[in-house]
Amino acid sequence: MATPSKPRLLVATHNPGKMREYRGLLREVPYDLVSLDDLGITLEVEETGDTFLENAWLKARGYAADAGLLTLADDSGLEVDALGGGPGVRSARYGGDACRSDSDRVELLLRNLGETAWERRTARFRCVIAVARPPAEGDADVASVVGSVAGMIQYQPVGDEGFGYDPVFYLPSFDQTMAQLPVDRKNRISHRSDAARRAVAVLERLASSKSG
Ligand code: IMP
Repeated sequence: MATPSKPRLLVATHNPGKMREYRGLLREVPYDLVSLDDLGITLEVEETGDTFLENAWLKARGYAADAGLLTLADDSGLEVDALGGGPGVRSARYGGDACRSDSDRVELLLRNLGETAWERRTARFRCVIAVARPPAEGDADVASVVGSVAGMIQYQPVGDEGFGYDPVFYLPSFDQTMAQLPVDRKNRISHRSDAARRAVAVLERLASSKSG
């Protein structure tokens, strides 16, 4: 007898690297994971919120309505205490058109921090995940969860792994930057994996409430 197919969960990303990461992080959930590209969805939900939470909800609700599927969306970035929590939701667009690459943005971050003393260079990567149902299924919002990893912004970039601000994000417990960690180790300690572990619990509860 054929095994009953699992319900689908849309992971709202066009980024194949992020999708691969989520396939690993969410391997235990009782859903079949599909990406925007798997479904041929070209809609771009604008990230117009002032917080990671607002942007994650905008995307989860927007893509759930478009696809008619249970949808998981995230927003993440770097918060530096000495910059009032910046670049924050602007992490990907930090410096606007003047910054064309990750290394331009890292350079701008280091310039803005200047000679800020070591003990004031505290920072964290934060990731918010929101899960929403399509409006046809009633109350759209399922839950949101937050994950983070704490570190310090070092004075010079070091390391070639990862992306974004990884080369200046120093992890005291490893005595290395995020960009010096092999990708599988980064994925075990990252803000995304922290948030995803919490999302697994939400999705397992949701699935068991439906089957029970
Ligand atoms: P997104 O919301 O995951 O697309 O991330 C937004 C921006 O935050 C990225 O473009 C990066 O600048 C920064 N960022 C998010 N996660 C990481 C990470 O794991 N390492 C370095 N930078 C990150």
